[in-house]
Amino acid sequence: MTGAPIEKVLIANRGEIALRLVRACAEANIRSVAVYTEPDRYGLFVKRATEAYSLGNDPLAGYLDPLRIVNLAVETGCDAIHPGYGFLSENPELARLCEEKGIIFIGPSAEVIKRMGDKTQARMAMTAAGVPVTPGSEGNLADLDEALAEAKRIGYPVMVKATSGGGGRGIRRCDDATDLKKQFPRVISEATKAFGSAEVFMEKCIVNPKHIEVQVLADAHGKVIHLFERDCSIQRRNQKLIEIAPSPQIDDALRNRLGELAVKAAAAVGYVSAGTVEFLLAGDDVYFMEMNTRIQVEHTITEQITGIDIVQEQLRIAAGEALGYGQEDVSYRGFAMQLRINAEDPKNDFLPSFGRITHYYAPGGPGVRVDTAIYTGYEIPPYFDSMCLKLVVWALSWEQVVSRAQRAIDDMRLHGIRTTANYYQQILKHPDFRNKEFDTSFVACHPELSRYSDKRHPSDVALALSAAIAAYAGW
Ligand code: ADP
Ligand code: ADP
Ligand code: MG
Repeated sequence: MTGAPIEKVLIANRGEIALRLVRACAEANIRSVAVYTEPDRYGLFVKRATEAYSLGNDPLAGYLDPLRIVNLAVETGCDAIHPGYGFLSENPELARLCEEKGIIFIGPSAEVIKRMGDKTQARMAMTAAGVPVTPGSEGNLADLDEALAEAKRIGYPVMVKATSGGGGRGIRRCDDATDLKKQFPRVISEATKAFGSAEVFMEKCIVNPKHIEVQVLADAHGKVIHLFERDCSIQRRNQKLIEIAPSPQIDDALRNRLGELAVKAAAAVGYVSAGTVEFLLAGDDVYFMEMNTRIQVEHTITEQITGIDIVQEQLRIAAGEALGYGQEDVSYRGFAMQLRINAEDPKNDFLPSFGRITHYYAPGGPGVRVDTAIYTGYEIPPYFDSMCLKLVVWALSWEQVVSRAQRAIDDMRLHGIRTTANYYQQILKHPDFRNKEFDTSFVACHPELSRYSDKRHPSDVALALSAAIAAYAGW
């Protein structure tokens, strides 16, 4: 079954994901409309889209204004809006306005976004559906007294979490009552600042868990399938750094169990489009953590192991097409790994390091995919996320994918800013990582890995020198 075909899509995002979406549209013979704020005027996604429109001078306001974006989609004759990740991707208001103005929102319904975006409501929906959730408070916490009582019931350590949280922010571990008294107001203030909501809830802290998430695809005709899992246990401050598909740490029995739980979770809420169900894993115990109702940063690695283009599937599902295959038709091959190259200084507590890229040479060769919107001369603006490049490698075996990641980082040249690239080399060398034994505590447990030498290749020193001379001489 097919609805009206999509012919023109407004891309309500920026940077690498906007470029990823422009490329998907081009391959599907769909016209793309980029929108940008002033610091992104020279963005690659702006140049590569079929059309581009300014959202004004303020770096952020335009990207966060659902009404303006939907109106622009109507004015420019778009049939659909793709929100990417971050920004308005999990904002039910954008999806609702689309529904109101006859624009297709490429994602699930406003109602599903709202329900799953609220972590306490999502937990309740999952409990009702028979999906195990992390033990925790039944709803939001009214005040510190309730938090203390709940912590006593659940048992320390606990996590206090922002109900509308995302991007690893608004989450704090509390080891005892004194700690909880100190952290509780901090989470509330973080949640209010970052998400405009003071609501918080509590979960039992699962000690040293693995973060395993399952990619799902659901069409508008009731079919839901999964595309296996990703292991995102390599994190710093609850934010993902390196992602791997499939997880090298689980067996097929657990893989199937997780896949079935994710499908059950998505089906229970009437999910449509691509989505991700995140779990924590401790031994053989599995706990639902949250669902991201959007394309994720690390969708790339699932594409590499399954051969399925997830963005193309989102476009087809949004046009009303049925998934043309079932669970038994989907398989995976080898391992894929994504390294989030961030403009940050790993030696200085991952402090952002924005500025001009004086020289960029992309890695390549067999099994290498690079998703980025940077180029030599590009100035990384300080207003947005620090991730500037996704280095994705694929190989048949675990050993090969690790060596390929090392080789690809060696290939790459990215000068002018500090990045996490060389820090990842230290992780890739570590015996625990190579032995497939790591959990979410890995980065915090190995502070020594950020003490490496930044020795440069002699030809790069010459290059940096000539760039400096050129800048000085005004060439
Ligand atoms: P993924 O779940 O795809 O791995 P991340 O957690 O890394 O994504 O988030 C991707 C981007 O979206 C980051 O810039 C992050 O700060 C932002 N983000 C995620 N969730 C939210 C949210 N609820 N509110 C605001 N920004 C968010
Ligand atoms: P976000 O919406 O910011 O992505 P999540 O709820 O997905 O927040 O949690 C992000 C990360 O924080 C997880 O991947 C995990 O490392 C850690 N975390 C969250 N909840 C717990 C918990 N109950 N126990 C242990 N770690 C947790
Ligand atoms: Mg998450």
